[in-house]
Amino acid sequence: MGWRMDRLGAPVGSTEGDGVDRRDFVKACMMAAAAVGLPASVGVKWAEAAEAGLKPSVIWLHFQECTGCTESLLRTSQPGIAELILDLVSLDYHETLFAAAGYQIEEALHQAMEANAGKYICVVEGAIPRKDGGIYCQIGGRTAIDILNDVASNAAAVVAIGSCASWGGIPSADPNPTDAVGAPQILEGTTVVTIPGCPANPYNFLGTVLQFVAMGSLPALDDKGRPLFAYGRTIHEHCPRRAHFDAGRFARQYGDEGHRLGYCLYALGCKGPETHANCSVMPFGEVSDAWPIGIGHPCIGCTEQGVVFNKPMHAEATLPENAYPPIHPDHRASPSAAAAGVAGIIGGAVVGAGLMASKKMSERGSEEESS
Ligand code: SF4
Repeated sequence: MGWRMDRLGAPVGSTEGDGVDRRDFVKACMMAAAAVGLPASVGVKWAEAAEAGLKPSVIWLHFQECTGCTESLLRTSQPGIAELILDLVSLDYHETLFAAAGYQIEEALHQAMEANAGKYICVVEGAIPRKDGGIYCQIGGRTAIDILNDVASNAAAVVAIGSCASWGGIPSADPNPTDAVGAPQILEGTTVVTIPGCPANPYNFLGTVLQFVAMGSLPALDDKGRPLFAYGRTIHEHCPRRAHFDAGRFARQYGDEGHRLGYCLYALGCKGPETHANCSVMPFGEVSDAWPIGIGHPCIGCTEQGVVFNKPMHAEATLPENAYPPIHPDHRASPSAAAAGVAGIIGGAVVGAGLMASKKMSERGSEEESS
């Protein structure tokens, strides 16, 4: 990749005709570095490595899914993250983006695996069905199980992008007719980095891949394979509406006064308290507030196995221990905040002086029932 220069010799854009400004390119690399907790200078090094042609080979597999993760990546606006990612990696196999089909694309897969044996990154998008030997998802006469085992066996790293590839996602929703699971369940014993989300945030993916390429290491992961830099905290812990939760101000119906005023969405079924993700601090497409809570919809827990596609969308979330701030020293002596909070909300039994939020919710709920 080269850069166009202005009259003074400053780089202003790619020479490859896509119009990606070098400043945007470096900025995206710096954001990806920041996403994984690395200094901005590392992002600049990534950009320089890509400019020198040091791009990792990526083999991207599609199984049971809607292609939403790829679509999300392609539909971002400024800067065009899709172009930037394609500048940073060598995407050697991707069924959705390839113009080729049939035998040609099968040949491309085998060539990419041979040419980059042991060095390529295997990206998995979509769930893998196990029922009846996996016959419900076949490509080129091979089941998704066979393809994944084959491609992953010679990969330097395996990354499952999206909730479907991470644990089964929508295809695995009850009653899970095809016994769909994620890549980690097929590749037992292999480290699989999972980037759940419906869709996954492109920066979380990019940061993970670039760290592996630039530093030869994977980011620290939690027990579900999720990078801690992105999934180490719950949405609730860094939600811009958190102050309303703590103060007991809740939207109770879409369009009511509380909703219009931007109050907490817990009573509408927000799963932020039990969902680990960085949506509020890493907006999609770099558009501020471009995430569910940002536009007034409760978090549905799309990064959390057992929450999204399992719990009813408007059912109240299970509250964690840290759901309430220690406003008063007495709070520390209170019973479990989680247990008490749920009890207070459901039954109106408020236990402990610190449970201001559940108390106010309970009071308001009673008022509405009697009105
Ligand atoms: S319940 Fe949802 S909307 Fe309310 S503060 Fe927590 S994450 Fe934000």
